[in-house]
Amino acid sequence: MTTETLTFNADVSRLLDIVAHALYSNRDVFLRELISNAADACDRLRYEALGNSDLIKKDSDFRIRVSKDTGFRTLTVADNGIGMNHDELVENLGTIAKSGTAALMEQMGSTKNDKDKLSLIGQFGVGFYACFMVSTKVEVISCKAGDKQTWHWESDGKTGFTVREATKDETKKLESGRGTVITLHIDDDSSEFLIDDKLKEIIQTYSDHIDFPIFLGKSEKDGEDEEKPVNKASALWMRSKNDVTTEQYEEFYRHITHGFDEPQMTSHWKAEGKIEYSALLFVPTMRPWDLYDPTRRHAVRLYVKRVFIADDCEGLVYPWLRFMRGVIDSEDLPLNISREMLQHNPVINKIRSGVAKRILSDLDKLAKNDPPAFVTFWGQFGAVLKEGLYDAPEHREGLLKVVRFHSTHKDDELTSLADYIARMKEKQDTIYYISGENMDTLKNSPQLEGFKSRGLEVLFFTDTIDDFWLQTVMDCDGKPFKSITKGGIDLSVFDDTEQNSDTKDGKAKQKKKDPQLDALITLIQETLEEEIGEVRLSARLTDSPVCLVAADDELDLRMERVLRIHQKYEPKTKRVLEINGTHPLIQRLAAMAAEKTDCSDAAHLLLDQARIIQGEPVPDPSAFARRMAQFMERGLAA
Ligand code: ADP
Ligand code: MG
Repeated sequence: MTTETLTFNADVSRLLDIVAHALYSNRDVFLRELISNAADACDRLRYEALGNSDLIKKDSDFRIRVSKDTGFRTLTVADNGIGMNHDELVENLGTIAKSGTAALMEQMGSTKNDKDKLSLIGQFGVGFYACFMVSTKVEVISCKAGDKQTWHWESDGKTGFTVREATKDETKKLESGRGTVITLHIDDDSSEFLIDDKLKEIIQTYSDHIDFPIFLGKSEKDGEDEEKPVNKASALWMRSKNDVTTEQYEEFYRHITHGFDEPQMTSHWKAEGKIEYSALLFVPTMRPWDLYDPTRRHAVRLYVKRVFIADDCEGLVYPWLRFMRGVIDSEDLPLNISREMLQHNPVINKIRSGVAKRILSDLDKLAKNDPPAFVTFWGQFGAVLKEGLYDAPEHREGLLKVVRFHSTHKDDELTSLADYIARMKEKQDTIYYISGENMDTLKNSPQLEGFKSRGLEVLFFTDTIDDFWLQTVMDCDGKPFKSITKGGIDLSVFDDTEQNSDTKDGKAKQKKKDPQLDALITLIQETLEEEIGEVRLSARLTDSPVCLVAADDELDLRMERVLRIHQKYEPKTKRVLEINGTHPLIQRLAAMAAEKTDCSDAAHLLLDQARIIQGEPVPDPSAFARRMAQFMERGLAA
């Protein structure tokens, strides 16, 4: 018999190193990981057997057995699931074949907190390797269902492992002639895992929800008595809500997510009517590290009448709910459905829509009942959820209830659109927003001044996704969205009422024609003809002398910027430079313009200044610097 000696790949070695140190605080979890793998193996065989019942002819009672031998100091976890052949042993227990390993390691490096590290490892599925926290040596005996050959894998969890054909005695350890037996040689510090009461406690804490029976102790084949499992062994999602404790939900969540965090929201319901299904879904607390990886799995698992079908069923949940984890168990789909047939299946489509509706309504409730939890949720997943605004018009109404934004109303506080609308001023029929990458730049935008001074609330849109849904979502509750960096906003409507109540104010007069300002406007217009479509007196500005806005029929300024970079977009109509007629600098310049003094340098500087505030580059920095220097020189001389 030949024995192969192989080394772990670099990622496994690094992971083992992290496991040995970071997980030390809660070593119990190794057993949960092994049981979780055993349950997955049973799930997978049950699915395979749907198409080939020979695979389980010998023994169709799936089960997991945990037993110990105090004399040899061994702990054994056995299952009669799908098992592994030679290549699978090498591949699954020697490498990490998953995509994104490099990204995970990078994230690991920058994570300080042990708990966050745990969560990261857990999400990645360090699973099996956790057993090296408590063992000096681990042996795996496995036979793939349908195969004749049983294999033996062994490792001390340091540098590598060996693989060889299993001996006769080893093969006999597989109760049903298939599946996997994992034997841990417990180290001196871990004797507690050789005590039945301790093992029972761990199984009940972490694995009660596993829907295969877990037996504790060696099997008594000839015993007449029915063996009693340590766990309830019924699918948690089929139980009534009242029969499930928060702790059980949390453990189940950790089982399916491989995570260590708690769910931020748990939704558990049974849909009855035209289509029937049970759903137990969770919103995680932490953003999965691969949220933006299109190939990620382990999302929502599909079961059909309690049989696991797939954990990568496309179309089962909307992409904008891809952070959801959990189980959906359908009563309507046929058990022998192939994975290919799942796609575009009308039942799946109906479930997807029903799930979205329910989750949006539960999120709406969460926002009302537990605002801090909702804020955490929003910080992690808000940007993803907003993808639904353009992806799923049929759920737009529900989404518009749940979306939140920062606004000028209160610093650091999120507002709903409903609250914004409730605060709208008399005569205001538009939802005003400003969009940009950086919140601080946005808060200091000159375009905001006139809105703030009139008490008009403006929403801040800082996610890239905002510019996209705004192209398709025209309004909320009949109130159109409008960017305050666009032309064609008449703020004077809001002044009339103020003037009626405050007639002594001199503002009204300033609105009248001012020949000096007209001269300045003409002059700037002529000077900046190449760059600017129009110069206008602004109602938007109170403190700043100038700002740029988009022409009335053009895109919002930020959208223009995004498209300019990515698609070489050139707007058809040039932008508008708005000037603040009440600003001392503008008034001074107006007086100069009236006397025909040359103000062309000032005009260029004003435009460059508007660009800088906007966060845009100055197209001709050397000309800008030269003009600036001249002005300072003159200023210092005066
Ligand atoms: P994960 O469970 O997240 O995939 P693990 O490290 O826990 O990661 O397990 C790695 C892989 O080893 C599993 O994906 C599975 O293919 C295989 N495996 C582990 N335990 C068993 C088992 N008891 N039976 C069959 N395959 C197993
Ligand atoms: Mg696992």
